[in-house]
Amino acid sequence: MTNYYNKDLYKILNVNFDASMQEIKASYRRLVRTCHPDVTGNQTDIEKFKEIQEAYEILSDEEKRKKYDVLNGFYREKIKKNYTESKSKNIYEDVIKRAKENSTKSESFSHSINEALDNLFHTKKQKDIKQEKKPPINGEDIKLDVKISCFEALKGTSRKVNILHTEPCPNCEGRMFINGSICPMCNGTGQISSEKKINVKIPKGVTQGSKVRIKKEGNKGQYGGKDGDLYLIVNIEKNNYFEIVGMDIYCNLPVTPSEAALGADIPIKIMDETVTVKIPPKTSSGQKLKLAGLGLDNKSKTKKGDIIITVVIKIPKNLSEKEKELYTQLKEISNNDIRDEMNNGR
Ligand SMILES: [Zn+2]
Repeated sequence: MTNYYNKDLYKILNVNFDASMQEIKASYRRLVRTCHPDVTGNQTDIEKFKEIQEAYEILSDEEKRKKYDVLNGFYREKIKKNYTESKSKNIYEDVIKRAKENSTKSESFSHSINEALDNLFHTKKQKDIKQEKKPPINGEDIKLDVKISCFEALKGTSRKVNILHTEPCPNCEGRMFINGSICPMCNGTGQISSEKKINVKIPKGVTQGSKVRIKKEGNKGQYGGKDGDLYLIVNIEKNNYFEIVGMDIYCNLPVTPSEAALGADIPIKIMDETVTVKIPPKTSSGQKLKLAGLGLDNKSKTKKGDIIITVVIKIPKNLSEKEKELYTQLKEISNNDIRDEMNNGR
């Protein structure tokens, strides 16, 4: 009776692995009626009958069956699938090895299996105590990508984010098994996940790829370790007017024809501040102007970014009668030599 862990007690009792208690009892009664040496008249059947009795003794007892299932089920894909952490696997391989060793020294099958199964608990408890003395493990940081518009980057904004925290299962404390069975709360993974909604403020003037840190909203630390942090990694989407490249703010500035012709001081709002852009007289569309040092201010860098203006001459959507009249006059008196170079160039 040495290798009983490799024995399939369910097979001995002629039932399925997931048989109900009723099925087990019914099958046992049937086997007693057909396999008892007194019935078969063959005294060599006594060993086989003993095996049936022993299997029944384990499987008809909820607690013993549970323990047996842990050992037996350990080899089954079902359990293997539920966890990957090799450390815990080793604990159980170790437990089974020890139980097997003890069983060889024991006298009877029933005695040895009970002792071995009790030993599983005893060994497990010792392992648990060892685990509790583990050095602190810091929780991992969680990183999330967020998209914001250029407007938001320049003005500051906020985002509600759903974060998935994973932490050691409170039921089995990350040990995957509880009282010898797979922990029902975490399905033997040792971890549980919970969603949390957090409102995160993104400050104005963030640059592409900036990391916004929210302390202690990462995964929980274990054994007294620190909680991780949450990082929002900012992705800035450009729009028709602004694009942020590094520390520089690129701006397509709409300018009216008269502003472009005569020059103008045009106020624009960037990061809650009004900046005046000086358009010189006779400015054409596409012309670039640089406002040095008025871009983004990354505290870690000594040099501030610039604002780079590209002039875009735009005609207002609605022209008044007066404007149309003036444009007509302007057209008549204009010295239209602007296409000379294009048409007569060499
Ligand atoms: Zn658990």
